[in-house]
Amino acid sequence: MTHKNDILIIVDLEATCCNNGHIAREDMEIIEIGACAVDLTDFSVVDDFQLFIRPVVHTQLTEFCTELTGIEQSIVDGADLFSLSINHYRKWLSGFENIKAWSSWGNYDKNQFEQDYRRHGTPDLHAGLKHLNLKNLFAKAEGERLGLGWAIQKMGAEFEGRAHCGRDDALNMARLLTLSPNFARVIGNRVYG
Ligand code: AMP
Ligand code: MG
Repeated sequence: MTHKNDILIIVDLEATCCNNGHIAREDMEIIEIGACAVDLTDFSVVDDFQLFIRPVVHTQLTEFCTELTGIEQSIVDGADLFSLSINHYRKWLSGFENIKAWSSWGNYDKNQFEQDYRRHGTPDLHAGLKHLNLKNLFAKAEGERLGLGWAIQKMGAEFEGRAHCGRDDALNMARLLTLSPNFARVIGNRVYG
């Protein structure tokens, strides 16, 4: 079934990482794509998405990474490589006829996608779409540049699910659109302005 309403895609990536500097920024690789699709007419979440990806540079997750993201070694071992697995994400996106923009908390996710596209020689899945930096837009709406968890707390709510799980991070960003009418307005202006 395809959704016909105007949609904002919210993405949150998790990547290989460590806490001792032995994984360079340029060697980090996506291990989870979490996302949700928000209907821009009423800011309801119409669907969510989660995909795990097997890294090729640092194939063994650090203990730190598993603790941070909740992603176990066996999950990435059983997952496809980026070039193959992103077809699932592409297919999920194709279920929405009117995607108006894609977005993430900060620019990290946009840069990380570009790094993985380069490594695997794969095309940009969001080609032609505007990217919204939700962290900046939240700051514009509510006057403070905050981490996602703090932004939720500022709006008088609690983070739902597991922080640093890509899917839960994306769903909590979507919650902010209903928690903060100002944020929703700023996003609407940016999408349609
Ligand atoms: P997040 O969306 O905040 O869960 O972060 C996305 C990715 O950034 C994580 O999967 C890690 O690769 C990296 N990251 C986030 N926080 C840290 C941290 N404290 N130390 C090292 N890497 C981190
Ligand atoms: Mg995250």
